[in-house]
Amino acid sequence: MCFNRNKNSHSYVRLGAYASDIINRKSGVRDDDRHGGYASDECAIIGAIVGDIIGSAHELKGTRIKTTEFELFPNNATFTDDTVMTIAVMKWLSEIYRIPTSEEGLVPIMKDMGLRYMEVGYGHSFKQWLRSENPEPYNSLGNGSAMRVTAAGLFGQSLEECQRIARISARVSHNHPEGIKGAEAVATAIHLARIFMTKECIKAYIEKKYSYDLSRTLDDIRPLYGFDPTCPGSVPEAIVCFLEGNDVESTIRNAISLGGDADTQACIAGAIAGAYYGTVPQLFVEKIEGILPEEFLSIISKFLCLNNDIAKTICYEPNEDTTELKRVLGEGWDFSRIL
Ligand SMILES: [Mg+2]
Repeated sequence: MCFNRNKNSHSYVRLGAYASDIINRKSGVRDDDRHGGYASDECAIIGAIVGDIIGSAHELKGTRIKTTEFELFPNNATFTDDTVMTIAVMKWLSEIYRIPTSEEGLVPIMKDMGLRYMEVGYGHSFKQWLRSENPEPYNSLGNGSAMRVTAAGLFGQSLEECQRIARISARVSHNHPEGIKGAEAVATAIHLARIFMTKECIKAYIEKKYSYDLSRTLDDIRPLYGFDPTCPGSVPEAIVCFLEGNDVESTIRNAISLGGDADTQACIAGAIAGAYYGTVPQLFVEKIEGILPEEFLSIISKFLCLNNDIAKTICYEPNEDTTELKRVLGEGWDFSRIL
């Protein structure tokens, strides 16, 4: 068994009493009491990978659909490049076992895994990057930076740390400002979801910080939307899928229903939803265990255990997060429940 479903007793954020006397302020912190820590980490990873697997059947021209009603796991559903690179970033962070200050060690792992799992949907330029002896960033704004960033959103112990890891993980290949922004925005959403922030707060922060338009509904987007593998053309839409979802499955269904870059958008939206809800259908775990190579399962398992240890040993200061949130969001938000 790869995933330990019983290790979710550690709560990442110490929840205090909700200051209900503060009125006319938007609540930045959810008033439900979901599992954080290990459960959120595990479900974010499952959400990302199962989103990729479910989306894989709807990625190519002719298979894209505009409905949330479809079979989740047809026979041809499998993991793609999104999963392989997500696992590569996870392996990198597990091996260095500290908050990285540079990209040292990342490229060899991406190359090794990418070359061993080559025909899984990489774009032409990224294939060249993988095959080159000394891969250099190629100013890409593709969503490859955003699809692999889940572990960054889970590994950082503060919002700024998650954003820094996301920037580093992106810039080795996708060093266009929009490529870096896409990775940062996804890691940010995962982190804020993981520390119990409300959807309203996540939406407002990302809109202000990254100038993404998250005000459109899926019904607004869907009719004219098509395949767009760039960050600015796919990441905001994937985040809207999360905002409109009710759980991990409905979030992934939302992402597929856009008829765009289905596997990548479902991977991104699924990761955020997993961190937010902290629960996934048991079927998703079983599918992942049945489809992924043993090597991937063991990297996930190691990452989860290490991350759980880090969260327990590092004294987490939530004020660090609210300072940055308040700086970007301005007045009018209540974060008192995080005290
Ligand atoms: Mg893919």
